[in-house]
Amino acid sequence: MITKGFRAEPYAGAMPEPTLSPSGATGESAAAEVPQKRILVTDLPGPRSRALAARRDAAVASGVSSLMPVFAARAGGGIVVDVDGNHLIDLGSGIAVTTVGHAVPAIVAGVQQQIADFSHTCFTITPYEGYVAVCEALNRLTPGDFEKRSALFNSGAEAVENAVKIARRATGRNTVVVFDHAYHGRTNLTMAMTAKNMPYKDGFGPFAGEVFRAPMSYPLRDPLGTDGAAAAARAISDIESQVGAKRVACLVIEPIQGEGGFIEPAPGFLPALASWCAANDVVFVADEVQSGFARTGKLFASEHEGLVPDLVVTAKGIAGGLPLSAVTGRASIMDAAHAGGIGGTYTGNPVACAAALAAIATIEQDGLVAAGQKIGERLRAFLLGLQARFPQIADVRGRGAMQAVELTEPGTLTPDPGLAGRVAKYCHQHGVITLTCGTYGNVFRFLPPVTITDELLDDALAVLSEAFGSAVA
Ligand SMILES: *Cc1c(COP(=O)(O)O)cnc(C)c1O
Repeated sequence: MITKGFRAEPYAGAMPEPTLSPSGATGESAAAEVPQKRILVTDLPGPRSRALAARRDAAVASGVSSLMPVFAARAGGGIVVDVDGNHLIDLGSGIAVTTVGHAVPAIVAGVQQQIADFSHTCFTITPYEGYVAVCEALNRLTPGDFEKRSALFNSGAEAVENAVKIARRATGRNTVVVFDHAYHGRTNLTMAMTAKNMPYKDGFGPFAGEVFRAPMSYPLRDPLGTDGAAAAARAISDIESQVGAKRVACLVIEPIQGEGGFIEPAPGFLPALASWCAANDVVFVADEVQSGFARTGKLFASEHEGLVPDLVVTAKGIAGGLPLSAVTGRASIMDAAHAGGIGGTYTGNPVACAAALAAIATIEQDGLVAAGQKIGERLRAFLLGLQARFPQIADVRGRGAMQAVELTEPGTLTPDPGLAGRVAKYCHQHGVITLTCGTYGNVFRFLPPVTITDELLDDALAVLSEAFGSAVA
């Protein structure tokens, strides 16, 4: 039978094909029970994954893609166990979501208790403490020591949309400034805010209006290089001449860009934009959906340059895998929306709140911000060594447990997405879950759980090194 990550008992309800049982799975999975070791018992994908893939193809819309043809059965720590019993090292964390690791006991316990108590009332009907406690934690933990308020949502995109709604209401202005290479989601407004056409936007328009895209600081490819102040002046000049500061409600930016290629703007770029926003009554919104919650060696990536955003958008790493997102910021801005103006049926679901409270407690009690920093040092040292061996690595960038290499034809800036794809494929076939990204599809990114053991990380990086050797040859 198929067992799920944190269920204490096997499913009693309707069962999927019982023949697809992972060998040896007991249904009593917890992090400690999943050996923290890469173990391959079949070719990847194995026979059970192949059988599920056939069902998937017949049942799931083809617009929903999967990176790997391997089906998960359970997971613990830094390992995902597939339905054939293979143990894969997870360097993706489900896109920066299981930052604290899979099946963290405190999260499992918090979720089990909450779902037994109640799973839903709708906060806008009868509220509950968990929602309030998550807002208190966010108000305490996000940058800035002014009075704050938070509101909870389900997905990153939904939270980004709400940040824009709140900023518009607070300023009485319309325009949203975003940047080249940005990724903010897949809803109509956030598609307009996202830069990359394929696969996120192509054929899905018309898009929301009043979104202005400004030039980003992208040190590897930008003629202004590492001059962050000059890059900010260029963006500001475009905004002022093409929109006008008085029409701008908010400027939304990822402190380290995610899907766009882990682009870390040049030092000084973000602080200069923040000062311009402050001087022009523009709401500065940090989209920390991917970079937040102990991902980059700080709790929030904004902290690396001492940024204090007016609003911070969080999601992904906030709740250890349960769907939850938030907008947090200055009370004067957050309270601008009228009663009933923001919300939703499921927003701030109590089970997701329980998971978030346990994830936040785990980050604080287990020192996971420092753990992310340490992983970052280990990863950086390895990637710089790899770059010395492979001239295809044009750039090593990012911070903490959010780093990437950008691949080009040696000595040029011509992107090499083919190489990124071959390296990824080799890793996938050898039991390491890795992700690519980037406007040009040529960035290989690393998002391990910050709790991954050194042995596991080193084993995964050894596979990566072999992958480069094999893909370049
Ligand atoms: C993933 C992501 C989003 C969208 O989050 P969803 O939960 O997928 O809607 C928004 N912004 C950034 C920076 C992201 O990485």
